[in-house]
Amino acid sequence: MIIKATGIILKEYVVGESDKFITLFTKELGKIQVGAPRAKKFDKGLASGTEMFVYGEFTMTCYKHTYKLVGVEPIFTFHHLREDLFTLSYASYIAEFISEVAVEGSGNEHLLTLMLYTLHSLEKMGSEACERIRRTFEMRALGVLGFMPELDHCVNCTTEIVQDPNKRYTFVIREGGIVCDKCKGVGFGITLSYTSWYVLHYILGSPIKVLYHFEIKPYVLKEIGLVCDALVAYYIEKPFKTLEFIKSLENLS
Ligand SMILES: [Zn+2]
Repeated sequence: MIIKATGIILKEYVVGESDKFITLFTKELGKIQVGAPRAKKFDKGLASGTEMFVYGEFTMTCYKHTYKLVGVEPIFTFHHLREDLFTLSYASYIAEFISEVAVEGSGNEHLLTLMLYTLHSLEKMGSEACERIRRTFEMRALGVLGFMPELDHCVNCTTEIVQDPNKRYTFVIREGGIVCDKCKGVGFGITLSYTSWYVLHYILGSPIKVLYHFEIKPYVLKEIGLVCDALVAYYIEKPFKTLEFIKSLENLS
């Protein structure tokens, strides 16, 4: 059976002399493994069309849940990501993250759209913006995956959280949101400034087209980073190889 799917390549591996395997994240089928025989050596179109980050329409044969690539019509290749090692490393992290959370057999168009906007932003905004883009992606992705943090009501007693620029907020990771002043002791909490609380609102609620169009001060990025690290560790429970690589790059610079 011949099938078509729109998606992006999360991973590519060369097998033997000339064959390749790719991991695709598609709108229709979720995450799938696809064999691409002879893609490395003999077929130039398939060789470039099976590189990591190629977004396009993939034509495959499917037999007993085994997919074989027949052709690729690239829509966007994100080749500028490769011009800077730092940017490429963050893009690889986005791909690893999606690969970890995506499910085989179940498409997630919102997650695919988020990934595409994230890669576009990394490409356009460059290495200076990498960390901000990463944190925005993580928080928004957790929301898309159903782990939407609660910011407006205390996660312990449901009291409304007061907006006050002079106030400090406490985000409790296990409960997945902000607690009121009375409930601060319910679990491990991260203290946030009003600006960080406001930025979290923006990240979770803004239209995706303008999601990355904001600037923040380093201390806000740091606070949001602490929340993201803790939430990702709590919900995804997996160390990411690409993040270890990014850390080693930062230590060199
Ligand atoms: Zn409370």
